[in-house]
Amino acid sequence: MSGGLVDSYNRKHDYLRISVTDRCNLRCVYCMPEEGMEFEPNEKLLSFEEITEVVRILAKQGLRKLRLTGGEPLVRKNLEQLVEMLANIPGIEDIALTTNGVYFAAKADKFKQAGLTRINISLDSLRADRFAMITRGGDIHRVLQAIEAAYRVGLYPIKINVVLMKGINDDEILDFLRLTLERDIQVRYIEYMPIGHDDAGWKTKYVPLSTVLEVCKEQGFEVAESAAVYGNGPSQNYQIQGAKGSFGLIHPVSDHFCQTCNRLRLTADGNIKPCLYWSDEFNVRPLIGNEEQLLQLFYRALGQKPETHEMALKLTDKTQSHTPTLRRMSQIGG
Ligand code: SAM
Ligand code: SF4
Repeated sequence: MSGGLVDSYNRKHDYLRISVTDRCNLRCVYCMPEEGMEFEPNEKLLSFEEITEVVRILAKQGLRKLRLTGGEPLVRKNLEQLVEMLANIPGIEDIALTTNGVYFAAKADKFKQAGLTRINISLDSLRADRFAMITRGGDIHRVLQAIEAAYRVGLYPIKINVVLMKGINDDEILDFLRLTLERDIQVRYIEYMPIGHDDAGWKTKYVPLSTVLEVCKEQGFEVAESAAVYGNGPSQNYQIQGAKGSFGLIHPVSDHFCQTCNRLRLTADGNIKPCLYWSDEFNVRPLIGNEEQLLQLFYRALGQKPETHEMALKLTDKTQSHTPTLRRMSQIGG
């Protein structure tokens, strides 16, 4: 089998998001409950060797780009070793990391040396007290240090992920835009998604990202769509005239981008998720060591990948065509 990782809608998949753990050192309000999370025991997580084996097989089928995520990927010990193992696989061109940044600064050099190519750091507020409230106790200074460390070791373009929530941080849209005026950074505003748990407050906190462009208009910013910012995916990118950085809008709810989806997900406990939103999963673990069967499983997962997710229907309570996942975002990796 070597037809490439193409699904029934002719979407080519060259990108795998790998969750390395479901644990986290923070408890962001939109991602995890404050208490009561149950985590996978360590022996249930794929080992670095198992992850590397899966990637090696998929790289022969056209996989080129990887993202390590979690939970918080840096709570997994010696993660830079995994980066190095993945960077040595022929065909792999890009290894990115999504992190809350808390543990990153001290390890930035190691990650760069291991072959990390890019980084996204989550930062939902520029105000220390509010950041602590959203993350339930996080120290913003650690995250700011992570951003400076990413600059220092040259992990460009440095991206900041901001999940917008009404009444929580939507009054900071302009502050983040101003940051792009001053620094060579990409701020990526992300729509709050209804993933894996019945958050009764989701509908009232959801903010469509057209709001960001409205703020630009109010401010009289000249904004141009920008193709210049390198990335893998769904972000629609813009630049304010004269800005050093840029901003991106990721709007899976108000305007989904499923027709161009190029990604698969591998959960920390070894399940392929063809779509972030739906419950379908395919466990690779028993097949590791059998290349042919493992590939067949990936092709089965691709064959069952639906055309779109239906997050927007959650706004109206309409019936959905499949079953949404019960996993939380921390158990998928975003
Ligand atoms: N712990 C790392 C971090 O926070 O960057 C990586 C894992 S986290 C699950 C990956 C991304 O998903 C983060 O940027 C986070 O803000 C985002 N995320 C989590 N829950 C979300 C939700 N309900 N809607 C939109 N984005 C969410
Ligand atoms: Fe942890 Fe990331 Fe989820 Fe926040 S968004 S709780 S940092 S996994």
